[in-house]
Amino acid sequence: MSETTHYRTCPLCEAMCGLEVTVENDRVTRIRPDDDDVWSKGYICPKGTTLGYMHEDPDRLRAPVVKRDGEFVEVSWDEALRVAHDKIRGVIDTHGMDALAIYYGNPIAHNISLAKYVAPLTAMSGITVGYSAGTVDQWPKNVSAALMFGGMWTIPTVDLDRADFVMMIGANPHASQGSLLAAPDVCGRLREIGRRGGKVVVVDPRRTGTVKYADEWLPIRPGTDAALLMAMVNVLFEENLVSLAHLEAKVNGLDDVEKLCKPFTPEFVAATCAVPADRIRLLARELAAAERGAVYGRIGTCNQEFGTLASWLVDVLNVLTGNLDREGGSMFANPIAWSITMLPNPEYTDGFEFGRWKSRVRGAPEVFGQFPVSCMAEEIATPGKGQLKGLLTIAGNPAISAPDAGKLHDALPMLDCLISVDNWINETSTHADVILPGMSALEIPHYDDIIWSWAVGSAGNYSPPVFPDTDRPQEWQILLMLAGFCMGQSPDEIDVDGLDDLFFHGLVDALTQMPGFALEGRDAREIIPECREEGGPLRILDFQIRTGPFGDHFGAKPDGLTLADFEAAPHGIHMGPMIPRLAEVLKTPSGKVELAPPYITADLGRLQKRVGRKESDLLLVSRRHVRSNNSWMHNVPSLVSGRDRCTLLVHPDDASRCGVRDGAKAEVRSEAGVIVVPVEVSDEMTPGVVSLPHGWGHDRPGIRVAVAREHPGVNNNLLAPGTFVDEISGNQAVNGIPVVIRAA
Ligand code: SF4
Repeated sequence: MSETTHYRTCPLCEAMCGLEVTVENDRVTRIRPDDDDVWSKGYICPKGTTLGYMHEDPDRLRAPVVKRDGEFVEVSWDEALRVAHDKIRGVIDTHGMDALAIYYGNPIAHNISLAKYVAPLTAMSGITVGYSAGTVDQWPKNVSAALMFGGMWTIPTVDLDRADFVMMIGANPHASQGSLLAAPDVCGRLREIGRRGGKVVVVDPRRTGTVKYADEWLPIRPGTDAALLMAMVNVLFEENLVSLAHLEAKVNGLDDVEKLCKPFTPEFVAATCAVPADRIRLLARELAAAERGAVYGRIGTCNQEFGTLASWLVDVLNVLTGNLDREGGSMFANPIAWSITMLPNPEYTDGFEFGRWKSRVRGAPEVFGQFPVSCMAEEIATPGKGQLKGLLTIAGNPAISAPDAGKLHDALPMLDCLISVDNWINETSTHADVILPGMSALEIPHYDDIIWSWAVGSAGNYSPPVFPDTDRPQEWQILLMLAGFCMGQSPDEIDVDGLDDLFFHGLVDALTQMPGFALEGRDAREIIPECREEGGPLRILDFQIRTGPFGDHFGAKPDGLTLADFEAAPHGIHMGPMIPRLAEVLKTPSGKVELAPPYITADLGRLQKRVGRKESDLLLVSRRHVRSNNSWMHNVPSLVSGRDRCTLLVHPDDASRCGVRDGAKAEVRSEAGVIVVPVEVSDEMTPGVVSLPHGWGHDRPGIRVAVAREHPGVNNNLLAPGTFVDEISGNQAVNGIPVVIRAA
């Protein structure tokens, strides 16, 4: 019996935990935390131990499939690529490029191939219509970061290990393990803040698991975070607590914010937020008094009616209290390897502009080139010029994760061409003409990409594949082939390595001409031969490390890092905690932090009208469990075992008022739809608020995920109206949906 041990980073979430994987006779026999991992130091969550099961999952596709007479048939790669090519060309040649769209799912951020090659796919293919899980996630934060700091991903995160006051709003790291915040064991780190005499306040409509690690839970009415935060801004000005400190000369728009916050007194918003005015005042004072404090907001602040205002105000509060770019405050990470996603987009050289074009059916304005993901269903289903006829889905399952899910489910079969790059036949890919599977997480190398851009330290960890498979194309090769098909190349003539070289050489060439880049002024023709010989993501990764802040800069810093250093360090390399970086990352046209971007502040009138609006009787919010990862890990037995977690959480008072009982089923009705779901009565809910988890609903015909089918749950997006959005970012609002419940 041969036993081998492999050290890997878990690719499932932003915590990036180190794993020790034991393999015997080509099978994973054990996965446990890597105690020597420099980043996670022995921390993992229950999902990390399941990589072996997912690798061996009998439902995982190892070969491509094509649909014949309504059934999927396994075919050779040559055959699958030929069908994909013909389908794609059929749409482009008949209806034009605008009839073809791409949908990007969340796992692209966690896969070395996808993270580095969605950019060339988008650029080379010429596809202009894009949708993504981003508009059910962080789009508001992208808008506020773009307008305040000059980059859509220039998002500061909380320096947890040195903070002594943290206000956490709309975030539940107990389940998510951190989001736009990379720090293993976030909850342990929160508990340490209390232990060293600091304070953590969790603001959330639900007493989440995170509250156990905090000092205080402050319940709030869903969708009113922006009103609460604006009232805190009001208190800071009214009580002369504004102190920009080191930011004094680096901020534009302070006077505007002072004027704009005037109507939002604590008394004005208290009833709407369901937070007493005195508590709002105290919260503002606590933040101002903290030597090292920060406000951190996450998905709950984004996926709601005023997502951009709330996201903006999180950073406004951090600026007004002098906590932005200060140790123990809200800081910009300093990744060892930069991400292509972080590079400046030449489209926005003169500043960001939104609403440059509108969606055909609903007239939704584009934001970063995308419409709300719920538009996809109507763009497919509505005939006329510009109707979507083809779709490429890349590691995504919008049939579950997009609001108005019922409409998309009905629309997907109308497509002339649906190509899914996916490892399972799920609720979306079951409608595909061709499914092109990628590798399992254990078959590919790994080094996280953009996730390090909000990590609480500068570290990195390279993982070679545990089960290398050179007989099948990796995702990056699949994406380049799809790009080639869109460009008019046939499967016979496509040259993937040539396309890869084209992209990589173009990247190096552009960066050597970019002001401030590590190789500015160097000759790309001299750099390229010095890069790793093999193409693909590892060549890009090595280049990113070498030209990053700790890299060797191709000879200019001989002691600097290269990928080879990480290959020789199985437990990773840590270069230290976050450092102040505002001057380096700030890219606004003015060169200052824009505290009052007109595009955002123009939305304050809408917020003012929200205050005092007649409240709905019951509001629905979304939730997540630590054993769940959006929609795609419910086929792992150990993660779905035990009691049913897809339940409607209802406060006891609401349960008795609405006549629903614990364990019995309730009918939940919204403007968008109606579902039936088991009830869990719990005082962890605020009265007037009910909660459903997202990512469920595995009961559709045609899916091939046997375990998930046995634990189908119900899709909460059947209740989310597609037109319920944060108007200025186009992000879907899945929190704060008015619903009515009754016994089923
Ligand atoms: S916390 Fe995230 S990275 Fe760590 S083991 Fe769990 S899923 Fe993996």
